[in-house]
Amino acid sequence: MGRYDGRVAIVTGGARGIGAGIAQRFAEEGAAVAVLDLDETQAAQTAEGLGAAQAIGVGCDVADAASVEAAVGRVVAELGGVHVLVNNAGITRDNLLFKMSEADWDSVLGVHLRGAFLMSKAAQQSFVEQKYGKILNLSSSSARGNRGQANYSAAKAGVQGFTRTLAIELGRYNVNVNAIAPGFIATDMTDDTARRVGMDVEEFRQAAAQRNPIGRVGEPGDIAATAAFLCSDEASYITGQILYVDGGATLAGG
Ligand code: NAP
Repeated sequence: MGRYDGRVAIVTGGARGIGAGIAQRFAEEGAAVAVLDLDETQAAQTAEGLGAAQAIGVGCDVADAASVEAAVGRVVAELGGVHVLVNNAGITRDNLLFKMSEADWDSVLGVHLRGAFLMSKAAQQSFVEQKYGKILNLSSSSARGNRGQANYSAAKAGVQGFTRTLAIELGRYNVNVNAIAPGFIATDMTDDTARRVGMDVEEFRQAAAQRNPIGRVGEPGDIAATAAFLCSDEASYITGQILYVDGGATLAGG
């Protein structure tokens, strides 16, 4: 018996990185999993590799209302419903304020905030009807402020307010809404940041590990384990919470 037997979970941005780690963990615990990502071929490849009893890859741009409606409709039709939504899709377009373009502001706010809004709105129809649902949003330790990330920090702080508000509104329908705020997790996203600041990927990771109280960087599995708990019925009295999963980095000012 797995904690997710009989559940259908959607993970946005699930083709790689943290999202793929979460999808893998849900599959291992018995869920049918829908991997949503911009590129349907990559989403389908990841879905196939999960070893789940049922898994599908669906092409979806979370910032686009029609794309979201179509994708959630497909999941419900092909997997028989939806019980868990993880709003994980994300991008960075870092720059200091004076160099940040309007397009970079809009695209980051669009994927993280508008994306979480559209996906949650589409999924809550099933959640409210069946009086059961779990929404997990990906915030970030950057929500507390981070040089060069005015757009990303604003979006991730916005995700925290969005999380608390949905928890208040949807609690009466037995829907739990929480957020994880990861610190440094080794993925393509952090590797891209290393390259952008002109550092070797390994040195960049080592520097982050040295600043960290636990003495290492995070792995997608660290976030997946937390997600599997927060979206499980063991966590049914936890809602509206923002859990920092960062090895203590925020305590140390990192
Ligand atoms: P990643 O490796 O860059 O993966 C992000 C995924 O999201 C990619 O598969 C990407 O697709 C997809 N995506 C981007 N825009 C999308 C859209 N409009 N619609 C659907 N999918 C879209 O990132 P990650 O490191 O795993 O991060 C996952 C989440 O955790 C993000 O929300 C991120 O902000 C958050 N986070 C990460 C860290 C970290 O240290 N890595 C720390 C704190 C928070 P493509 O491959 O097609 O671009």
